Amino acid sequence: MPDFQVFRKETIVPAFLSLLKKYEDRIQAAYYDALMNIQGEMKIIYDKYAIDGILTTSDLAKYNRYAAIEEQLLDILEPAIKRGLYAIKTALPELYKQSFFYNEWALDMTTGIHLGLLIPSAAQIAKLFSIEEINNKFYAESLKEYTIVSRRKIREALMNGLAQGKTFEAMSRDLSKAIDISNSRALKIVRTEGMNALTAGSDYTYYQALDNGVKGYMVWDAVLDLRTRPDHAAMDGKKKDMETGLYTLPNGETTPYPHWEGLSPEQRCNCRCLENFFVEGHEPKYRRTKEQGIIPYMTYNEWYKKYHGGGEFIGVSATTEKQELFSAEVELRNDIVKEGDSL
Ligand SMILES: [Zn+2]
Repeated sequence: MPDFQVFRKETIVPAFLSLLKKYEDRIQAAYYDALMNIQGEMKIIYDKYAIDGILTTSDLAKYNRYAAIEEQLLDILEPAIKRGLYAIKTALPELYKQSFFYNEWALDMTTGIHLGLLIPSAAQIAKLFSIEEINNKFYAESLKEYTIVSRRKIREALMNGLAQGKTFEAMSRDLSKAIDISNSRALKIVRTEGMNALTAGSDYTYYQALDNGVKGYMVWDAVLDLRTRPDHAAMDGKKKDMETGLYTLPNGETTPYPHWEGLSPEQRCNCRCLENFFVEGHEPKYRRTKEQGIIPYMTYNEWYKKYHGGGEFIGVSATTEKQELFSAEVELRNDIVKEGDSL
């Protein structure tokens, strides 16, 4: 009989993450277009107003052009911000649905019976990801902040460049950095919320399976590497309390699954944890790690004691502790697929 853990590892997570990547690519494409257009516009402005390759606020003031140029650049950025927001908002319900379908398929294959699980209606799914919902307040705030910061960064780059009398090349670099910040923010939101859609969809499917007579239970699943937050390292292998339907984190926060929208940003951003479902009789026997390859199934703390010889994992240093939290460079997909997901 096919094994749920193998399906999960080989099929569900990679398929889900490649779908998430499609939305990430849409965001990147929108920002690439904006960058090309903004640089093109700046080139025209420099050709027209720069003196000896340098453009300053007073050069533009002479022609009363500053406000118009700022507006012009923001007008070019606007479609990228809008496309970013649109990609994020359309990604979440779609990712949730796909998570449900993949998990249902894997459970059908594992149990050998067609469970016929019911997916929530489009309206229920839309409500789950609505920014009007109180549980989604951090998500709503991050969208708002993303829009404000994106505009501010472009304005700052332009203002500072002109105040310092920068060349076209230097100005282009600054504008490119400003656009990159905006792009990274959009990607971080879609990844954070996309992972929430994955775990929310999985969790819902697991409950449906239980209601349909499948015997099993839910378990927190962290990545076995040194970038995992200490709080989540401690959660690895913990069973969900089926009375309350919640996991309790070391800092006291409770959550139905990793990435849940009601968790604080400290417990969500760039988190790579998943919720696993142990079908009775099909509990995982192995885990794959980046450092050691395939090892017998063990929890994070057992792994840490065995391979990093010491007590409980308390975070290697402030910097590594913060990596799962804040690094925009986290290769989320690769980490989950290749390094730490349990087999
Ligand atoms: Zn985590």
